[in-house]
Amino acid sequence: MQSAGIQGEILMAQLSSRESPFQGGLYVITYGCQMNEYDSDKMASLLQKTYGLELVQDPEEADVVLMNTCSVREKAQEKVFSELGRWSKWKAEKPNRVIGVGGCVASQEGEVIRQRAPSVDVIFGPQTLHRLPAMIDEALRRRGDDSIKKKRAVIDISFPEIEKFDNLPEPEVNGVSAMVSVMEGCSKYCTFCVVPYTRGEEVSRPFVDVLQEIQSLATQGVREVNLLGQNVNAYRGVMPDGEIADLAVLIHAVRAIEGIDRIRFTTSHPNEMTQSLIDCYAEVPELVSHLHLPIQSGSDRVLAMMKRNHMALEYKATIRKIRKIRPHLSLSGDFIIGFPGETCDDFKETLKLVEDLNFDRSFSFIFSPRPGTPAASLPDDETMEKKKRRLYALQELLNKQTQAISEGLIGSVQRILVERLSRNSFTEVAGRTECNRVVNFTGSPELIGQFVEVKITEALNNSLRGTLVATPEAARFAQQGETQFHALA
Ligand code: SF4
Repeated sequence: MQSAGIQGEILMAQLSSRESPFQGGLYVITYGCQMNEYDSDKMASLLQKTYGLELVQDPEEADVVLMNTCSVREKAQEKVFSELGRWSKWKAEKPNRVIGVGGCVASQEGEVIRQRAPSVDVIFGPQTLHRLPAMIDEALRRRGDDSIKKKRAVIDISFPEIEKFDNLPEPEVNGVSAMVSVMEGCSKYCTFCVVPYTRGEEVSRPFVDVLQEIQSLATQGVREVNLLGQNVNAYRGVMPDGEIADLAVLIHAVRAIEGIDRIRFTTSHPNEMTQSLIDCYAEVPELVSHLHLPIQSGSDRVLAMMKRNHMALEYKATIRKIRKIRPHLSLSGDFIIGFPGETCDDFKETLKLVEDLNFDRSFSFIFSPRPGTPAASLPDDETMEKKKRRLYALQELLNKQTQAISEGLIGSVQRILVERLSRNSFTEVAGRTECNRVVNFTGSPELIGQFVEVKITEALNNSLRGTLVATPEAARFAQQGETQFHALA
């Protein structure tokens, strides 16, 4: 593999030295997980650099419209085709427009999209998004070539391993918190999940590449990084001496980067919560007391059918170990209700696990059979009515727990990374707690990028309100008379 920096620079130089075929903007819509959000940011930045396209909020103003898709649930997949129907109408009005479909649906249904949505010009997978400019160029060439009678979409949904990271632009910062993808794909093959088929098996970025990216982000003012991967705790990055670094080693190295004072990682698999990773909660104060650890079901029988390869007790043991170190760990999870064969007793075990562990802001869905996965062909004789009732009961419990956690924060002092001005007030700023809740409070814009302590005064549905407590970092602004502090009683 060629060195990331050199190959990337050559590519950028080639791309930026030519005239753009577009006058309008770029519109990107993203469905699905944080990995997709990360990929969409990279696509946008690549096309902005290549063609000088400006991001627009209204797809009708765009020359290039891209959809980054998710196939985790059937509904999300259906949405793709209905959205493409609308986009074809726009294209009829403006034939020069380029339509691209990427992400997991593209990866799984590339040919189907080409047949069902002939207005689509390029179809790319999560691992080939860095080839977008070349694919768009090819689509434009085909349009201008009269010898090609039927102008079919350009497709590249291959898995060229980690090559994509070598060809994406340097990270650009638009805030004080950034996502950094450290690995891709998944080799766990849970029976209900399409990810191993759409994103490929687990591949980790080299250790040094990840650290260089974070170093670059830190010099641009980033204070918090979220290490991303489908199975981020399966990270196994090659180090310069040939040794392999796991996520724990990576977290220790990230901690040493000046300016980075908060570290998150998502999403994790319970089987990869190694002792060295658990020890990070004791050894790395920059690591937040928040963990998203999907379990899917509290029943061992269902977990076995899902091929999760662990039992509920092992999951509980992991959480108890972490809470011994961090008693206030905020835990969130993913739950699938109505997996084929799930009985009422299985479901009660899920409720019991949720009651025992106390979850914060979790995700829960009814099982959605995904074509090509083993679970899609399992016999399922439970009615949808019953599944809906179970989902409702689980969500009621999860919401109650989340609300209680929010209310429990009232009166506490939370360390907040100030991210931006509040949406509804010029005199307020907003930041996030370690447990990822937005807190709005009165403060100067100059606090953006600072860690401050805020006393929580009110818990609203989706955010908290508080008052600033003078801290060493914040006190500097007080002395300058730039910030109004609300002294605590
Ligand atoms: S661990 Fe299971 S659910 Fe998670 S991405 Fe891999 S296969 Fe899918």
